[in-house]
Amino acid sequence: MADVDSQQQWQARAAALSFANQAFIDGEYVDALSGESFACINPANGQVLTSIASCAAADVDRAVAAARRAFEKGHWSRMSAKDRKVRLQKFASLIERHADELALLETLDMGKPIKYSLAADIPGAVKGLNWYAEVIDKIYDDIAPTRADALALVTREPVGVVGLIVPWNFPLYLAYGWKAAPALAAGNAVIVKPAEQSPLTAIRAAELSLEAGIPEGIFNVVPGLGEAAGKALALHPDVDCIGFTGSTEVGKLIMQYAGQSNLKRVSLECGGKSPNIVLADCPDLETAAKAVAFGIFFNQGEVCNAGSRLIVEEAVKDELVERILAWSEKLQPADPLDPATEMGAMVDKNHMNRVLGFVDRGTSEGAALLTGGNRVREETGGYFIPPTVFDGVRNDMTIAQEEIFGPVLAVITCADMDEAVRLANDTVYGLAAEVWTRDITKAHKVARALRAGFVYVNSFDQSDMSTPFGGYKQSGFGRDKSIHAIDKYCELKTTWIELSG
Ligand code: NAD
Repeated sequence: MADVDSQQQWQARAAALSFANQAFIDGEYVDALSGESFACINPANGQVLTSIASCAAADVDRAVAAARRAFEKGHWSRMSAKDRKVRLQKFASLIERHADELALLETLDMGKPIKYSLAADIPGAVKGLNWYAEVIDKIYDDIAPTRADALALVTREPVGVVGLIVPWNFPLYLAYGWKAAPALAAGNAVIVKPAEQSPLTAIRAAELSLEAGIPEGIFNVVPGLGEAAGKALALHPDVDCIGFTGSTEVGKLIMQYAGQSNLKRVSLECGGKSPNIVLADCPDLETAAKAVAFGIFFNQGEVCNAGSRLIVEEAVKDELVERILAWSEKLQPADPLDPATEMGAMVDKNHMNRVLGFVDRGTSEGAALLTGGNRVREETGGYFIPPTVFDGVRNDMTIAQEEIFGPVLAVITCADMDEAVRLANDTVYGLAAEVWTRDITKAHKVARALRAGFVYVNSFDQSDMSTPFGGYKQSGFGRDKSIHAIDKYCELKTTWIELSG
């Protein structure tokens, strides 16, 4: 009964919400110069929540000019690291104070369960801001080991105006916690371009930056379509750096835009097709089954490092798959505003249809659909797909090669460890990989052989702000999280002082 009451409370709060829906430029909310807007839809019922300012090149010009002015003034870029730290911590605590509202916005906007918006997304954004705030006054620059009668200082400087183009699957967490936090901590002026499917939290939280003491123009948000606002930002001659998270396809365009314009530096966090290898000596099949299920069904499968390919040794395949199917039953989609819900709605109708298209492709190429694969809860008007499992998948099938970004697991059987590694690496992606074995030697061998930026052993999706995250191959380059992320938003300057005179 308590859960039902809570669900009703969330629904009542949702009904009473008002939405910030403009761009945030130079310390104020403004409409797009064209006056145009686009509809922001709740994917759990297909209804319009609000209209969002649809920024394009002219608005991006305005934001870049404001960011450049603010950067050049030096109030932020030359502020002591200690003082930037205090302001970023205040930004984090203001976001924390608005956690319920922001979690609700996230759930309404992109369909994820309120349980996870509250437990993962908003705390993740807060944690990222606090982590980089804490780090920035503890980083020292270097003195190079030159000859004795010279002094060569190697110092970090903020790169300048940073554009951050982000996806919709963890909107505030990635935009603020993984990207804006290190960029701001390093002293840059920042312009966030949220995904058009999920702009609400980035817009709402932007004004809190002012209250935190971050100067006007240092933190800006330009909502808009990728082809308009995103492209204009990446092509802009006065943007020094783009931090991008999104698909490999758009990542390739971002590199082209950088080349066509001012050779701005680019970092890309792109897609994945992560292999989850379960060897016959897996320490505990039930633990592995649960991790495999959450690894692909968490966040409706809309996760870059989702373990979308299960590569399992023949001897344990049947038992493991049976256990995964049992988890699939428990993780059926339901109302995202119900605190008991584990799986919510797909982000929008197009994406739902795209995922269902991959299901059709899997069936037509000969894989065996064991569960799911259909739209459910259609009567709600929302876009729901249940956990979907294909057995008998070959690694050259479309569902094993292309990123589906939905709750679709491809089960691939292998004969031994060597074949598992070969299949795991047979992909254009290299974001993450998992291996389950009780043999420490095998674990190390497999981990070394896997071409992926993150390898989990006997676990899935464990991490910490201190651990770098990013990909090999077409999963991109550059790393989010950890101290290494700061380097993406800094220039290294060498100052050589001749002491021989
Ligand atoms: P997407 O590439 O379609 O969009 C990402 C962002 O780019 C959005 O803000 C979008 O508006 C913008 N964009 C689109 N076209 C553009 C263009 N021509 N020029 C400039 N910007 C443009 O990706 P998505 O559908 O929002 O997100 C899903 C993808 O993100 C998946 O591939 C997923 O794997 C990836 N992702 C990667 C990570 C990671 O850390 N590696 C994390 C989360 C998501």
